[in-house]
Amino acid sequence: MSIGSTVCGHPHPPVLLLPGKTPRFDGIILDLDGTLTRPTLDFAAIRREIGIGADDDLVERINILPSDRRIAAWAIVERHEEEARRRQVIQPGARELLEHCRLRGVRTAVVTRNTRRSVETFCARYEVSFDTVVTREFPFIKPHPGPIQYVLAQWKMTAERVLTVGDYIHDIASGRAAGTLTCHFRNPGCATGNIEADFSVKSMGELWELVFPDEACGDVDLSTHLGT
Ligand SMILES: [Mg+2]
Repeated sequence: MSIGSTVCGHPHPPVLLLPGKTPRFDGIILDLDGTLTRPTLDFAAIRREIGIGADDDLVERINILPSDRRIAAWAIVERHEEEARRRQVIQPGARELLEHCRLRGVRTAVVTRNTRRSVETFCARYEVSFDTVVTREFPFIKPHPGPIQYVLAQWKMTAERVLTVGDYIHDIASGRAAGTLTCHFRNPGCATGNIEADFSVKSMGELWELVFPDEACGDVDLSTHLGT
C-alpha cells in the first residue's frame, strides 16, 4: 500500500441519491486513534517515558532531540503503538457509518499521525476501507494542513463540503487550516480541553445524524460490533 492509496477495498463510484436524502457533506476525513478507534494510546505515558513536557507536541519535540535520544524516543512511541494495535477497538457505529457513506457516494479518508501499519491493521481487523489514507509517512502531518489538502486534491473537491473529524486539537487545526468544516469527536470520560470546532459529537450515531440529516440511523444498532 502506498501513501494515499485505497486500502482493503476499491474506489467506489457515486451512488444515485434518493430525492430528499442529500448528505450534508461530499466527503469526511477521519482521525484514527480516539476517533475511528476507542482511545487506547496513552499519550501522557508516552511523554513521561520519553521525558518531554506534558504540553509538548510529541512529534515536533522528538524530531529536535539529539540523534541517539531521537531514535530511542521513536522506539518508545512504536512500542506503545504496537501495544495499542493489539488492544485496538473500533468505535461503535464506525463501520456502519463508513458503509453508509459508501452507499451514498460520500468519500471517506483516514488522516492520522499513526503509521500505515496501524491503519492496515484496523482495516483488516474490522473489514473497512477508505478512499484515501494519509499516515505519518507522508511529508506533512497534522496540525499542518498538508494531509487534508492532499485528500482534497485526490478527490478533486473544494473544502467547503468536506468535514474533518477528530478528537484532538491537531485534527481540528489541520482541517480548519485547509478550509474544511470541522467536528470535534468527544470521547465520553476523556478530557480534551477546550477545542473549538464547527460541530461537536460524542458518538458515531451523532456523527451519522450530522452527515445524513435526512436519514435517521435509528434502524442501525450502533452498539454492535464492539470488539468484533
Ligand atoms: Mg486522535
